Amino acid sequence: MVKETAFYDLLGVSPTASEQEIKKGYRKAALKYHPDKNPSEEAAEKFKEVSAAYEVLSDSQKRQVYDDYGIEGLQSGGPGGMGGGMDDIFSQFFGGGFGGQQSRGPPRGQDIKHAIGATLEELYKGRVAKMALNKTVLCKPCEGRGGKAGAVKKCTVCGGRGIRFVTRQMGPMIQRMQVHCETCSGSGDIVDPKDRCKTCNGKKTQTERKVLQVHIDPGFKDGQRIVFKGEGDQEPGVTPGDVVFVVQEKKHLIFKRSGDDLVMEKEIDLVTALTGGEFNIKHVSGDYLKVSIIPGEVIAADSIKVVEGKGMPIPKNGGYGNLFIKFTVKFPENHFTDEDNLKKLRDLLPAPRKEVFTVPAGVDTDDVVLVDYDEHKHESRRSRNNYDEDDEDYGHSHGGENVQCASQ
Ligand SMILES: [Zn+2]
Ligand SMILES: [Zn+2]
Repeated sequence: MVKETAFYDLLGVSPTASEQEIKKGYRKAALKYHPDKNPSEEAAEKFKEVSAAYEVLSDSQKRQVYDDYGIEGLQSGGPGGMGGGMDDIFSQFFGGGFGGQQSRGPPRGQDIKHAIGATLEELYKGRVAKMALNKTVLCKPCEGRGGKAGAVKKCTVCGGRGIRFVTRQMGPMIQRMQVHCETCSGSGDIVDPKDRCKTCNGKKTQTERKVLQVHIDPGFKDGQRIVFKGEGDQEPGVTPGDVVFVVQEKKHLIFKRSGDDLVMEKEIDLVTALTGGEFNIKHVSGDYLKVSIIPGEVIAADSIKVVEGKGMPIPKNGGYGNLFIKFTVKFPENHFTDEDNLKKLRDLLPAPRKEVFTVPAGVDTDDVVLVDYDEHKHESRRSRNNYDEDDEDYGHSHGGENVQCASQ
């Protein structure tokens, strides 16, 4: 899991995207917001953000820091020791309010993130999820003041901050320490107990249950964010953060997703591969697809066929990705028919290729037979060559064990 996905979202790629995909995403986004193409101020801003995101994600070291620690990690230097020029980038994201300067406007509350699971079926059709959350809101009866209008005074001892600094002598050292303001009990306010708000008991906030309608649009991807601006917890004097839902695609039994495409595996019998047939698929759209293998068309083992337009919906495009089917071919068991039939079959099938290697005339051949492969019997012997000639510890048979583990 990466810490945050904002940069990836800007380039329209998932956090698992390859370098190529990131490059592609950047080109697409940069083209869209390029000042030449899109002269609006909003686009210019976006263009800067996209460039910043690319600068980080195209550098594997910066990307690692970002994945592990988010934007903050890049800002603070991270373990990779960055910094310096990155400030420019962050000022683009935070309007200069980063790095402890906090000079403009009220501080901003934390964003609240929730994962929202979705099946491929739901991501195909889209759905509206009702998500209930408990949030802190300003107390309604006292309008977030904590008491009757005019009755709440700012604490003069701490200047309304609820904390104060004291200087203490510790042996030869003088320390400046931050302590809780006793006068106002850390609230920052002084209020006569009889004027204190009965609902919030002077806390200024209350908890409210809020139901948000989260719209998952058709074609949404794993990691995609749905943002409710300013729906985070309310605190007096703080701009509420956002509530962010992050789509988490659930595993599907049949289909794997690859961008806008779907991928599935299908095993067919040898006879179907050679002579045609049909099979059904329950698609994530809810429809049943009937797939025909036309007689005469041979499906080779491990071949990939495409059903065009049966992938996932492409958001804001109206089109659909494709469905890829990877075929495996099930061969019949040993001795599935008698020798007469095999002869007939041999006559029906294309003649085998001529063996390229021929034995010179008059040379005797060493006739050998094929036996079934046995992992224990054959594999441990083969891997013995990987060890020193001196290694006589065959009883231990690491080779065999290793191979066995790897294949499980
Ligand atoms: Zn105080
Ligand atoms: Zn109140």
